[in-house]
Amino acid sequence: MTNTTESPVLDKMSCTLLETLESADPQVAASMAAEAKRQQFTLELIASENHVSPAVMHTMGSWLTNKYAEGYPGKRYYGGCEFHDQIEDLARDRVKEMFGCSYANVQPHSGANANVAAFMALCKPGDTILSLPISSGGHLSHGLKPNFSGTFYNIESYDLDSETETLDYDHIAKRALETNPKMIICGYSAYSRTIDFARFREIADSVGAYLMADIAHIAGLVAGGAHPSPFPHAHIVTSTTHKTLRGPRGGIILTDDEEVAKLVDRKVFPGSQGGPLMHIIAAKAVAFGEALQPSFKTYAKQIVKNANALADALVAHGYRLCSGGTDNHLMLVDLRPRDAELTGADAEDWLGAAGIVVNKNGIPNDPRKPMVTSGLRLGTAALTTRGLVEADMVLVASLIDRVLASSGDADVCSKVCSEVHALCEKYPLYGH
Ligand code: PLP
Repeated sequence: MTNTTESPVLDKMSCTLLETLESADPQVAASMAAEAKRQQFTLELIASENHVSPAVMHTMGSWLTNKYAEGYPGKRYYGGCEFHDQIEDLARDRVKEMFGCSYANVQPHSGANANVAAFMALCKPGDTILSLPISSGGHLSHGLKPNFSGTFYNIESYDLDSETETLDYDHIAKRALETNPKMIICGYSAYSRTIDFARFREIADSVGAYLMADIAHIAGLVAGGAHPSPFPHAHIVTSTTHKTLRGPRGGIILTDDEEVAKLVDRKVFPGSQGGPLMHIIAAKAVAFGEALQPSFKTYAKQIVKNANALADALVAHGYRLCSGGTDNHLMLVDLRPRDAELTGADAEDWLGAAGIVVNKNGIPNDPRKPMVTSGLRLGTAALTTRGLVEADMVLVASLIDRVLASSGDADVCSKVCSEVHALCEKYPLYGH
């Protein structure tokens, strides 16, 4: 059982929650307390994760979960929605202000759900969609066969330049001419370079296609001015809210086009979802409020500075970075130049044993299987939230290298784990 009253791991509200839960459901309480400790005392380098503020976190765990609010503000299918209308309007207004666009739907339950509704709004089953495959950094909802996208649409792909491992816009333009798509998707899960949205729009216009930008990974960087905006270039923008944007787990759809907006509203509800998650929408509003503060710009820029510092330090240790580096929050590390035998799966396990949480990731043209891989994907959004800066990234890179150079030796992992613990104590999660 956790000592919740004066826990250095938890903020005050979480202590109260765990106290309640310990008598109501000790099994769930124990796992939750353990997870709180895990998050506090490990270094989170998974590029798609972050640590939300206590305000965002506790808004999710609130009485707003009790309500059905099918429909949209002012047009609901249930009574008693007046305060939910206020909340959803706030979320929509804030996210529109943040991205400088005229329409927002904040109801998608996730990034993948946002993409379902976006596809349904702009394409019919069987239409051709041009996207980057998952093996080169795209997302499964952009056309993987077993996914809805690969099942209901004719997916054509463009690829990265094999030499530079970056987007080759002339090649994409050529693929667009060859495939005549209804929609072109840009925006990725494992691409570390700046996306030229204006160039993508030129390509889309050249074949009369819609341009969809899925900014799930970089949304916080766009909001904070650390990556160019997809507006006014994309016809439709989808995103998650829980990565660099540092909000609750969820999705959004944005556009400047009134016709597209009407279609999107119909395809989110009733097209692909029932009741909106109003506790999550309220937490989105809180997160958007935070992202509109000047301090968020500093945060977004620091994420990129930290990614650059980590990238440089890893290169100095002998690792290769795909595309040679990073412009955003993430990097794809090719482990082979450091050790030809080293796999992403082993690296993930060994680093995990040392309290450094990462995910294995295929690198472009990876000869190994997706569950093995030759690479790691690392991101700096979560560590930057804790307050780590460039000098700390040099230390983090050396901790990573010590573990990997030792092939996960138990003594080395245990020593590194103690140093990770000390670093986490220096930068507590909810210690303020
Ligand atoms: N789009 C991109 C580019 C992503 O990277 C992700 C998640 O990693 C998603 C969509 C899907 O988001 P979710 O996991 O919320 O469905």
